[in-house]
Amino acid sequence: MELLKRRIIEEGVVASDQVLLLDAILNEQVDPQLTIEMGKEFASRFRKDGITRVITVESSGIAVAFATACELGVPLVFARRKKTLLADPDAYIERVPSFTKGIVTDIVLSRKFVSANDRVLLIDDIIANGYAAKGLIKIIQRSGAELAGVGIVMEKCFQSGAKELREQGIRVESLVKIASLEGGEVQFAE
Ligand code: 5GP
Repeated sequence: MELLKRRIIEEGVVASDQVLLLDAILNEQVDPQLTIEMGKEFASRFRKDGITRVITVESSGIAVAFATACELGVPLVFARRKKTLLADPDAYIERVPSFTKGIVTDIVLSRKFVSANDRVLLIDDIIANGYAAKGLIKIIQRSGAELAGVGIVMEKCFQSGAKELREQGIRVESLVKIASLEGGEVQFAE
């Protein structure tokens, strides 16, 4: 997505060879117009897939998942990140490592809002090792819903998450792919 590439060049901050900060457009501030365009792009890629629900995990995925759900005319459901001490019979829970925080968190999704009748599109902001996506996919599988695909704003190709999902036969659509951040420079993969 050329518009997003331009905004990343202008406003992304390379924090290390592994991390690109997108605080100005995605993680701390949201650009509504850009977010609407990203939602339209995901919706156009998945419009024929019979999506009944868009699912994300709080917090940075919510804005773009909302824009996508709005464009597809379906509900948005988001998993919460919580410390859970007890099993909750009303929720699906998966324990996942957090890439940026260096801790383990539980992602929790209410059983009320996803079921075996759903065809689900998972949307998230960034994929690195894929911990968040894999946790959410396990929850979707446990609910009996069908996963139509995964939409990611920024894929870092030098980390294994998206590749591993594709190897499992999961359709992953990324709006931009980053090949490298070495030397403080953003290199796009395509
Ligand atoms: P994963 O679970 O795929 O290993 O990591 C994905 C999550 O970690 C994203 O939702 C995002 O919040 C955070 N993350 C991973 N890599 C980056 C990065 O390069 N920049 C920022 N801002 N967040 C990242």
